[in-house]
Amino acid sequence: MIYIHIPFCKSRCLYCDFFSSTSSEMKNDFVKALLKEIEGRAEELRLARANTIYIGGGTPSQLSAEHLKSIFDALQLVAPLCDGAEVTIECNPDDITHEFVSSLKSMPVNRISMGVQTFDDGLLRLLRRRHTSVQAHRAVSMLREAGYKNISLDLMYGLPGQTMDMWKRDVEEVMSLQVPHLSAYSLQWEEGTPLYRMLERGEVAEASDEVSREMYEYIVRTAAMYSMEHYEVSNFAMPGMRARHNSGYWRDEPYVGLGPGAHSYDGANVRSSNPSDLKGYIMSAGMPEREVEILDEDCLYEEKVLKGLRTIDGLDLSTLKPRYREYAVKMAEPHVRDGRMMQCGEVLRLTEDGIFVSNDIMSDMML
Ligand code: SF4
Repeated sequence: MIYIHIPFCKSRCLYCDFFSSTSSEMKNDFVKALLKEIEGRAEELRLARANTIYIGGGTPSQLSAEHLKSIFDALQLVAPLCDGAEVTIECNPDDITHEFVSSLKSMPVNRISMGVQTFDDGLLRLLRRRHTSVQAHRAVSMLREAGYKNISLDLMYGLPGQTMDMWKRDVEEVMSLQVPHLSAYSLQWEEGTPLYRMLERGEVAEASDEVSREMYEYIVRTAAMYSMEHYEVSNFAMPGMRARHNSGYWRDEPYVGLGPGAHSYDGANVRSSNPSDLKGYIMSAGMPEREVEILDEDCLYEEKVLKGLRTIDGLDLSTLKPRYREYAVKMAEPHVRDGRMMQCGEVLRLTEDGIFVSNDIMSDMML
């Protein structure tokens, strides 16, 4: 699994604390550095296997077709794509033009993930998203016309001023597009973001827990009516259309992350990351000093719980050392009794009721 972080956005959305820059004049130097990183970590990339590639950000669709093509060419030299590989690129709806889509067709991209967030133009403006609902619809049509079937859309709920009726309209609109994959995230109020400052000044209000939960329940119920599998806390897919790259993260598989701020994991106990520093990344020609973290046994247990319980596949108790297994079963017991969790053989998973309170359950399962 390979992840590439493209740290550019045309402008910053008010709620976002992801690492990205609006200094578009640095794109050329960034891509040069990224190509160097691919070359410098060739052996690691070859071992990681390109069974999934995920180009995320930031806004990868802010790179030119030439840039993207050079990245895929460089990867192909050191880690040829596996047969049937899933290759995803995150796009913003306003970047989807006929020209961009036809250039994507010359690359191995076979899955598009698009941040729609809401179809309400007032909310889109409030959040400083750059697209409109019409552009989101148009983007999906253009991608379809070009032959892209594997499209995933992101929605957000619990937005300031978003009523239940507004959310129902969003969910109905997204369902009418019949995409095979959906992600629905509740708005996170991240300190330091402009939206958070607005909250502190009393200019916007947080959605109550009750409203957020009602919104979440609504999309869970609606997705089920449309035969979408609720396979992860925030993700829904038509049969056979789960996101393979993200599923790999949740299954604790190894991955190599390229680009500033990207993390890598050896699949055992070593996690490393490039610093979130675009200038430093460019200066070091894509080989900045990586921060390395050795995960101890307690940490590995907690990671396994957090990753396993968020998916429908659950936590495989047989992969835990006896003392951790015993602890997990003990902590899960009251939740199993109350119907929020179930244990089938060696697999512990959340029930639909449990998913609504997954944060509380996961925190109970921590050491
Ligand atoms: S486009 Fe995405 S990464 Fe960029 S600022 Fe907006 S939410 Fe953040």
